[in-house]
Amino acid sequence: MFDAHTHLQDPRLRDVLGDVVRQAAQAGVTGVCSCGTTPDDWEATYRLSQTPLPFVLVPAFGVHPWHARHLPADWFETLESYLDLSPVAVIGEIGLDGVLDGVPIELQEQVLVRQLELAERVRRPVVLHGARIWGRLVDVLKPYARRMPGFVVHGFGGSGEILKQILNMGGYVSLAGSVCNPKAEKIRAAAREIPDSQILIETDTPDLFPAGGRPAAIGANGKPLNQPANLMCVLAEVAALRNTTPEALSDLTGANARRIFL
Ligand SMILES: [Zn+2]
Repeated sequence: MFDAHTHLQDPRLRDVLGDVVRQAAQAGVTGVCSCGTTPDDWEATYRLSQTPLPFVLVPAFGVHPWHARHLPADWFETLESYLDLSPVAVIGEIGLDGVLDGVPIELQEQVLVRQLELAERVRRPVVLHGARIWGRLVDVLKPYARRMPGFVVHGFGGSGEILKQILNMGGYVSLAGSVCNPKAEKIRAAAREIPDSQILIETDTPDLFPAGGRPAAIGANGKPLNQPANLMCVLAEVAALRNTTPEALSDLTGANARRIFL
């Protein structure tokens, strides 16, 4: 299994990372993409990518829309230097978030566009975050979609129409544990509709703890923290929705992940 979206460098996991890594390997995780979100966690992401692990770790460096405000003046140069340092790295997690208060959409968009231009220039795939304003994200993405070496829309939660547009642009669509919620109809519909060649699965560790999962630890807010071993829950649910076996879906999504990330 390949976990297409995690934040293994997240400080909330620091004390339990050894167990998290061991349990992931035992559960059959053979690869993960670990996404930075702010200049503040790029060094931890880079260091983790240099640590020997029992699975492949693809680092991603980028500014998440939540962090598009109060960026240091040299953030873009720092981002370029981490990509130079890490030839296997991709660009992420970047995007637009319409749920968030306090970071103006125009500013989110400026920061996103600079990173999309960079992806085109340095030929790296991109990992995208969307929330609520999916249509705007698709519009911003359109001119770049075919000029970048590929992109992943993680934790997809948009409409069928948005899904169609992403698929037509050649994007990969990654499903997280929210697919296990019987009320998440849009996401469950997407799980049936994404073609074999464009589907990925993820945990979004340490967030989006799935029902029936095993907590990595209990967070400061009293809620369980997610871990890549719980990818099994997502795999089983998506396989059932697509009328296939977990083994076949694991092979399929693993091959897709290798095509985009490696
Ligand atoms: Zn994320």
